[in-house]
Parts: sequence; structure tokens; C-alpha cells
Amino acid sequence: MKLLTYSAEGKEKVGVLTPCGKKVVPLDKNGFDYKDMNDLIDRMTDEDKKKIEIISRAENAEGVLDIESVKKEAPIPEPKQDIICLGINYWAHAEESVRYKKEAFDGDRKFPVYFSKRVNRASADGDVIPSHSDIISTLDYEAELAVIIGKDAKNVAKEDAYKYVFGYTVINDVTARELQTRHKQWTFGKGLDGFTPMGPWIVTADEIAAPPVLTIKSFVNGEPRQNGRTDMFIHDIAYVINELSQGMTLKAGTIIATGTPAGVGMGFTPPKFLKAGDVVECEIENIGKITNRVE
Ligand code: MG
Repeated sequence: MKLLTYSAEGKEKVGVLTPCGKKVVPLDKNGFDYKDMNDLIDRMTDEDKKKIEIISRAENAEGVLDIESVKKEAPIPEPKQDIICLGINYWAHAEESVRYKKEAFDGDRKFPVYFSKRVNRASADGDVIPSHSDIISTLDYEAELAVIIGKDAKNVAKEDAYKYVFGYTVINDVTARELQTRHKQWTFGKGLDGFTPMGPWIVTADEIAAPPVLTIKSFVNGEPRQNGRTDMFIHDIAYVINELSQGMTLKAGTIIATGTPAGVGMGFTPPKFLKAGDVVECEIENIGKITNRVE
């Protein structure tokens, strides 16, 4: 099922999408008292999940709304912690990155690159991406599959990794290339306000066969830019959950962004960075698409 966060009646609420994708069933009007998506991830039992699946199919459930009538929010608007991101997790993107940074690349990526992405507030499908043109001129997009952890994960074997996955969503890991490069560590260049469009919802893990083999694409002003598939990872989801959880408890609600395929703006010669007015779409098969205009 598809779980979303939306605003209605002056409040942020959690709902479930009907199978046709056109209506939202509010959970608060159907017997659930989750404060927000993080609370749902922490507290939803298997029995609750079955009940929510049933009401998602009831077009006459209490308080059903047209999706067009609500303001969508990022499914987890305020993540509990920084997002854990993988850098350089597709081979072709590794090549375009070192070409841009004029570094040598020996074709070996034995260990993943991990970094933290600060998110004061994730943006929704339809929200604007601030260009921050007063401080940067190399605004770039990165379509990524994000994995949401559903229960505290510690010392998880690779073969058990998917038991800890709550669901998946789409993230645009918006980046200021000059800050990323200039400051060596990526915290600043990846963490500006409005740099994390996310959504449009979470698709629960039961709907996507593990490991996910999904096309992932991005477009700028309708022009195709990225076109990859989520089985082209250098380090896959099970590897990452196993490795990180050996030393770091991945708490329920943790978001892991799995890296971006080739075709980002810096990969072109000359680079095609984003400017005000550009419309960026990031789309993953069977999950959905987020569209954001640069302002
Ligand atoms: Mg990225």
C-alpha cells in the first residue's frame, strides 16, 4: 500500500491511498491515532497494517478525500535523524563524478561512500527547490531510491536485511556541487534548505519484490537525463544494512538514500546545472514521481 502525509483542516495527517490512486483515506477518521508517519512506523502492528489495507480499498471509508484536494507533504516531512546517503553507488555515475572533479578513477569501489544529509524539512511533490543563487551556481539533481527502516536494526545478516525494510520512496538528493567539492565533506553542499524533495508517498515493502529491480529516471524540463535501474548498485541494499548495522543501530524511521545513476547535471560537457524556472522530475517504477520547480 501507499502511505502518505498530507495537510488538511490546518493539520498534517497520515493517510493511505486507494488502489486507483485518486483518493486518500485519512487514518485519524478510521480508528488510528498516529501522530505522524514516524509514529506510524514505530507503532503500526501487523494487525493494524491489515486493517489499513482493508480501509484503503473501501472508497466509502470515513472522510475519503480526492488526492487533488489535499496538499501533499513529504511522506516523512521531518526525519528523526539525518538521512544516510550512499555516494557513488552506480558505476557510470562514479565515472562522470571523477571526470567532473578531475580525479583519477581506477574502477574499484571496494567500500561504499556514506554521508549524512541534513534535512530540517523534506519538500513534497510540487514544492519548489530554492536555487540559493545568492551563494551557489552549480545546483544539481540526483534521483534516488530511498529505503525506510521499519524496526531497529542491529547486527542484521544480509539474508535478513529486507525484514527490516518498511518501505520505499523517491528522493531528489539536490546538491550544490561547488560546496560539495570545496568543503571536502558533503554536509553543507547536500544539506541546504529545500534540498530534499521526497515522495510522493511510501510504498510498503510487501509491494516490491526484494531486491527491488525498478527503473529510475529523471527529467529536466521534459528532457530525459537519468535512466538507470536499481539492480545496478555497486553496493546493494542488503549489503548496506548488513554493514552499517554491525556497528550502528539503524533506528526505525531511518532513511537510507541509495545513490544516483549517471546523467546528473555535472556529468554533461559542459555541465547542465539547474536554474530558476527549471522543472525537475524524479521517477521510480512502481513507486511514483516527484516534480519540483526551481525558484
Ligand atoms: Mg546522492
